[in-house]
Parts: sequence; C-alpha cells; structure tokens
Amino acid sequence: MSIAPEIIARLKSAAGVNGFSEDPGEIAPHLEEWRSKYRGFSPLLLKPASVEQVSAILAICNETRTPIVPQGGNTGLVGGQIPFHGEVLLSLSHMNRIRHVDADGMSLIAEAGVILADVQRAADDTGRLFPLSLAAEGSCTIGGNLSTNAGGVNVLRYGNARDLMLGLEVVLADGRVLDLLRVLRKDNTGYDLKQLFIGAEGTLGVITAAALELFPKPAERVTAFAAVDDPKAALGLLSRLQDATGGLISAFEIMPRIGLEFVLLHIPQTSDPLRAPSSWYALVEATSAAHFDLQSIVERALEGNVNDAVIASSETQRENLWRLRESLSEAQKKEGGSIKHDISVPVARVPEFLETATRAVLARIPDARPVPFGHIGDGNIHFNISVPEGGDTPLFLARWDEISHIVHDIVHEFGGSISAEHGIGVMKRNEIARYKSAAEIETMRALKRTLDPNNILNPGKVLPD
Ligand code: FAD
Ligand code: ZN
Repeated sequence: MSIAPEIIARLKSAAGVNGFSEDPGEIAPHLEEWRSKYRGFSPLLLKPASVEQVSAILAICNETRTPIVPQGGNTGLVGGQIPFHGEVLLSLSHMNRIRHVDADGMSLIAEAGVILADVQRAADDTGRLFPLSLAAEGSCTIGGNLSTNAGGVNVLRYGNARDLMLGLEVVLADGRVLDLLRVLRKDNTGYDLKQLFIGAEGTLGVITAAALELFPKPAERVTAFAAVDDPKAALGLLSRLQDATGGLISAFEIMPRIGLEFVLLHIPQTSDPLRAPSSWYALVEATSAAHFDLQSIVERALEGNVNDAVIASSETQRENLWRLRESLSEAQKKEGGSIKHDISVPVARVPEFLETATRAVLARIPDARPVPFGHIGDGNIHFNISVPEGGDTPLFLARWDEISHIVHDIVHEFGGSISAEHGIGVMKRNEIARYKSAAEIETMRALKRTLDPNNILNPGKVLPD
C-alpha cells in the first residue's frame, strides 16, 4: 500500500511543523515491538500535540480512506500498535500534559501520551495513589493502557485500567471529538459510550485524554516472599491473608521454582531470598492508608500457612523482591524462546487448570519447560512454556499455534479467557473466532462499522478475518 504525496502533505500540515517525521531513522523504533515478534513499515510518523490536530488528521484520513495506526509507548504484546501495511503511524507521545490534579476530588486528568510512571508520580506528589502498575510502566502510556485495558499487579485490589477511568476524550474516525471527560462517580444517562473505547486497541477511536481515579496513598506497606507447596496452597494463603487484613492485599503473584532459577541465572543483582528451594513462591503485598501494625497481621497470617517466608525490611529489599517477579519475562527471554499465553480462568480453578494444561503440553513436547507465573489472585496466569534445555528455539517456536490451540481449548473448557490482559491485536484475532459465538463477533463487527465505516482505524486488528 502506498499513500499519495498530496495526502501526505495534507497530513503533515495538519500535524504542524514539529508534528511529523519522514526520517526512517526516527520512524524505525516505532515499527518493531518489544518481543521482536512483529515488524511493520510506515512512510509517515505523525506526532500531534493537541486534540484539534488529532481531529484534523483523522478527518483527512477518513475523507481519503487512509488507514492509520495509533501508538503510545509501543510496549503492547500482541502487535496492535504496529503498522503492518504501510499505514500512517499516529504517535500520541506529544500529547503528554497532565491537565489537572484534584487531590480532594481524588481525580487526575492526563493526556493520552503521558507515561504511566509520570501519572503515578503526579498522584504521589499530591499525596494520592494511582494504582495501575506493570513492568512496562516506565514507557507505556495512559492512552495505551486504556486502549488495552491493561491489568498488572494491583488488579486484585483496584481493578483493571477500565475500573480506574472516570472519563475520556476521544476523537472519532471522522474527526469529531467526543468529549466524555467527566469526573463523575455516578452517571446513568444512557449508553456508557466511554467504555466502548477501553480495550478497543485503537480500532474504534483515538483516545486523547482521560480522567483517572486516585486513591489514598499507602502509609503502611508490607512485602513478603513466601515458599508454598503449590498453587492450591497459594490460593489458600491468599484467602487467609484477605481475611486477616480485611481485604488489604494489593498484589499476590506466584512463580514456580524454575522461574526463580531463570531470574537468578540471567538477571544481575538477584539472589534467592530464602534458605531452601521451594517448588512454588508467592509474592505478597499488603498496603494500608492508615498507620497501624499491618506487618504483625501479615506475619501471623503467614505463620503456619507457608513453608518459609521473608518480609522486606527496607525499600531496597522490597525492590529486590519485586525484581524477582518483574524480571521474569526478561529472564525467560534470555533462557531461549518461549511460547506464551495470557489466560484467565475462574480463580478457584487455577490449580486444576495448571495441572491439566501442563500435562497436555508435556504430552506433545515431553522436555518443554512450563514456567507459569503471574496474577493468581485474578485467575490470570502467564502460561509460558520455555524451549527444552539446549533445544532449537526456531523449531520450538514453529509449534506456537499447535500448542496454543491445545492450551486455549483447555482454557475454554474451564470457562476462561484466551487474553486476560494483553488484548487481541493481530496475534489472537483469528483465535477469538474459535471461542466467541457468532452473535458476539457480529456485534463487534456492527460496532466497528458504525464507528469506523471506512475502516481507517487500525485495520486488520482485533476483529477476525
Ligand atoms: P502501545 O503498545 O503503543 O499500543 C497498544 C494498543 O493500543 C495498540 O493497539 C494501539 O493502536 C492502541 N493505542 C495506543 N494508544 C492509543 C490511543 N491514545 N488511542 C487509541 N488507541 C491507542 N500489560 C498488562 O496488562 N499487564 C502487565 O503486567 C503487563 N506487563 C508488561 C510488561 C512488559 C515488560 C511489557 C513490554 C508489556 C507489558 N504489558 C502488560 C503490555 C501492555 O499492554 C502494555 O504495556 C500497555 O498497556 C500498552 O501501552 P502502550 O502505551 O505501550 O501502548
Ligand atoms: Zn501480567
């Protein structure tokens, strides 16, 4: 696909003098994603700085039927932000102002291109908490977080990105601006349009700003790393911790021994915090906005319910414990290729799911190395399978679809989801057709036709062929 020079000229003019680039060197980093799994190409990178410019750009694209791919921090894991067919690339990176912080009203308005860590900092500076937290927080953007309905490690307590959003400013495919930027906690005036754009991965509109919910800032924080026998024991521990703290557990992550070993081997400055190896570990965090002895409560709940545990006694120790969890993907990458799944099942069924899926994968590839880890408290496991030790990575990865079908069929039997938090992008768009009903897919298509009749917004993403 190529875009006519006069259309390129109009788009450049709409984006303003500092708002575009045709320099292949500047465009290149926007074309490949973190896992190097997907690569695209684009003749033009647009970097508008205002909602008016985004509106003018989309109006031109719609009139001339020019496809356009929105992009935030380019940390998405399903290829949604990549222009595969030479589409125009729309980076929101210049829309990076925090427009308003209301500490008493517990809300903040940020433009789409604000980096997540900057939103967290702005909230913190006014004595508040913005709880969305994921390993990519230093580069992902609020627009991308909302467009993928990102999850991360605090969903257990605070919900997904969707639950933290109060209002939105969105530019529709034809350039009209939908101003839904309210900070209301209650608003039942008909269809809740803003929700349509959450998790839509840039296929229904371009998010230019969002009103976000803030929370009281933690005064007490207890972080523990505990040895547990298995995922069932981990869930039992979570339940007891929630009872003991009155629901103050903000993160509860699990990882198997092999995952910890990958981290210890490949990530500098990491060490095993416990004396003896354990088959599974739980990383637990409890927080309270009020001062009281939260640590003693957590300690008592751990006693008798875990084989061993360590509680961080300083911020450095806390960071070290979190590094064991957050560098797991990177460690797995260094260990060779892995076939990845981002699945969820009802929380209570996670242990049974893990047994069934592991057995099924090993029946196909007996020496494959399953490394399932993640947000067990949300029923969301990153069911990743590493290449056999000393195995051939390309040969192993060639079996991705075969293994994924097996895993996803089991997920479906368990009443689960084949994409718990990363979205669909291009990676799973045909896969969803295997599991969603015809009525569900047709309703999705009807929405797409209504909001983007000329199919200019991120075409070829989310919806099946
Ligand atoms: P991009 O990657 O740029 O875009 C993602 C999608 O949103 C694309 O389809 C794009 O077209 C669309 N989009 C972007 N901005 C807009 C906009 N303003 N309007 C409309 N559409 C837009 N995800 C989790 O949920 N939980 C995790 O724990 C987690 N951990 C991660 C760890 C690492 C190391 C990495 C690399 C990724 C992780 N992710 C995780 C993936 C997660 O989806 C992204 O990090 C993040 O939400 C995407 O934000 P982004 O700004 O990078 O968006
Ligand atoms: Zn995750």
